[in-house]
Formats: sequence, structure tokens, C-alpha cells
Amino acid sequence: MDVFDKCRDYGQARSLRAADVYSYYRPLASAQDPEVTTADGRRLVMLGSNNYLGLTNHPQVKEAAAAALARYGTGCAGSRLLNGSLDLHEELEARLAAFMHREAAVTFSTGFQVNLGTLSCLLGRHDVAILDALDHACILDGCRLGFGKLYKFRHNDLASLEAKLAAVPEDRGRLIVVDGVYSMEGDLAPLPGIVALKQRFGARLMVDDAHGLGVLGASGRGTAEHFGVEGEVDLVMGTFSKSLAAIGGFVAGDATVIDYVRHTARSAVFSAALPPASAAAALAALAIVEREPERRKQLWEVTAYMKRELAGLGFDTGDSESPVIPIIVGDDMRALRMVRRLHEEGVFVNCVISPGVPEDRAMVRTSYMATHQRAHLDRALDAIARVGRELGVR
Ligand code: PMP
Repeated sequence: MDVFDKCRDYGQARSLRAADVYSYYRPLASAQDPEVTTADGRRLVMLGSNNYLGLTNHPQVKEAAAAALARYGTGCAGSRLLNGSLDLHEELEARLAAFMHREAAVTFSTGFQVNLGTLSCLLGRHDVAILDALDHACILDGCRLGFGKLYKFRHNDLASLEAKLAAVPEDRGRLIVVDGVYSMEGDLAPLPGIVALKQRFGARLMVDDAHGLGVLGASGRGTAEHFGVEGEVDLVMGTFSKSLAAIGGFVAGDATVIDYVRHTARSAVFSAALPPASAAAALAALAIVEREPERRKQLWEVTAYMKRELAGLGFDTGDSESPVIPIIVGDDMRALRMVRRLHEEGVFVNCVISPGVPEDRAMVRTSYMATHQRAHLDRALDAIARVGRELGVR
């Protein structure tokens, strides 16, 4: 028995390559703009990026990152707890807390680490985490690392959530964790209903708003702002890897809770601090989110146009209510072929197959940026219509 046996036996990637439909790890040689250049020099319309506000290549964001690089160097060489804290991190945390209307925020080096560290330190052996079945992988992993129990309810099903809450023994702590915007389906958590249940059962609620931050709500504070329930959401996490144009993440909430997380979340305490350039980029992007609400408006115009056009072409876009719009294809192989053909026809989209989504719900995931122009979208729609017809996707 060799621990590497499983690697030799692992056939999924190999079989996709053999069938000539492998579309992962595609190298680009350009920024995450509405048009990208592949490593082999082709220009593609990008419908696969989470750069929702189009800020990753914004001059002011890049200048802020470059200035931080020049002043602080390339890395922090240690955790925030010890040598890695910068005035820049403290400024970012204060600005995030103020923006989110929360007492405090703490940053981590990735969004994944936020959920890993926050959930594992909050969930003790007398606690129960109650998760939506489609919660992001890092929420699940964070809960698994904690000592608490884990219950899952059916996706966006309030009756199922209620049944799970009712099944938790009286003397346990309860933490409901949901995505604000589901990263593959692009649908929203029904937060008003979740909040009502949370109150009834005396639970706490954490929302992962990786895809809602900067996108939803009149001020861009995310899904809870969109639904008007911010006061009833106890913790909000966000990432810098989407609207905030960098990498890293944060969790915001009451000062006592954030201070506990800051000192006990192992993915923060035992991992090096967010690099200076990323912290500065996130700060600059946050300033633009606050200053330029028109970006959000443009993003929603692009989103409405694409939803309407894709539906008009007869595609099933599920329950999407966000700039993440899936084209539900059903069969894995057909989704893989569609992504490959679209790449050949000049459009970059992402393929999501099982186990990423339930079997029979393979999808071509499209996502949009405030900076997409009508010409990009029409070029992409033309190719999507053609390839969809060719493969019988409707
Ligand atoms: N939560 C959700 C819902 C996500 O979609 C992602 C990443 N796609 C993360 C957390 C992790 O964020 P990051 O990429 O910043 O690690």
C-alpha cells in the first residue's frame, strides 16, 4: 500500500484530457478585464471572472498597491499576532468595520482562511453549526475543523432549516451559516426568513458575502443590506478576491467576538499576514466602492441585459438574482463540450460539474463585470447561441 496509489488511480482529469474537453487551469497572459489574452495569444471575452466591479486593473488601485510595495516590501514575514501587523492592516480593518456598520473587523490572508479560522474557533463541543447544503466548501471545512456538530438543511428551504433548528438539543449553541449569494447558482439566501427562524430558536447567524459585497445593497454592503436585515446578522465575512480587487478576506461583527477570533482563529494566528500590496489594493478598492455607486449600477445593467438575453435564447439560468448567471446544461459532458467550444469561439466561461454541483445540474457558469461593454456581451451572446444550438443545449 502506497499513499500515492490514489494519485495513480485518479482518472477524472486524465479522462477529460483524453476526451479533449479539459478546461481547467487555462493560463492567461493579461489582467482580469472584460477581454483577456490567453497564454497562446488569443483574445477572449471574459465571462468567467469574479472581478465584479472591474477594479483589479484600475489605475488607482494599482498605484496604491505599488506604493505599498515600495514602502513596506513584498511580504510581512510573519503572522499579525507577532511581527506581521502593519498600520495598513489596522487602517483596513477600521475602514471595513465602518463601511459595514459593525464594531470591528479582522482580516485574513484569504477568504477561505476567514471561514476556516472563524468557524473552527467559534464552534466548541457544545455547539451546532447549521449549514445550507450549497454553502461554500470553506464553510464546511471550517465547521469540520471545529469540535461542534454539523447539520445541513436543504438549499434555501426554510422548512428544512426550521426542522434542523428544532432538532438541536436545548442546551446547545446554534450558529446558522449561509452564503449571501451562492457562488455557482447566483441565487440569494432568503435572509428575512432565516432571520425570523434565527430569532425564534435563539441562534446566531453568519453570512458569507463573498459575492454580495460591493454588489448588493444600495451602498454595496451586501445581501443583508439588500434585504434590510443587517441588524439581525451577527457576523458577515467578505473576501478581497472579488469586488475588492485583491486577495484576502475579513469577518466583521461585535468587538468582543472579533477580538476572540483575532486571537484564536488558527488560520490567522499561525499564518502570515495579508501582504502590503493586497491590503493597500483592498483599501483603494473600498474607497471606490464608496465613492462610485455608478459602478454597481453598471454591473446591474449588464446583469439584467444578460439575464434577459440568455432567457430569450431559451437557456435555463436557474434562480440567479446576481451577476453570477449559470446556464444549466444538465449533463457533465455536454457542459464540458460547451465550455471548450466557447473557448474556441472566443469566450471564456467556467465549467461546473459534479461534485461541484449535484449530478444532472452541470452548468456553464457566467459572471459579469461593471466594465463589460455591450459589444463584449453581444459577441459572447452570439457565440453562446451558436454553440448552444450546435450542442442542443436549451
Ligand atoms: N466564500 C465563497 C462563497 C466563495 O465563493 C469563495 C471563493 N470563491 C470564498 C469564500 C473564498 O474566498 P477566497 O477566494 O478569498 O479565498
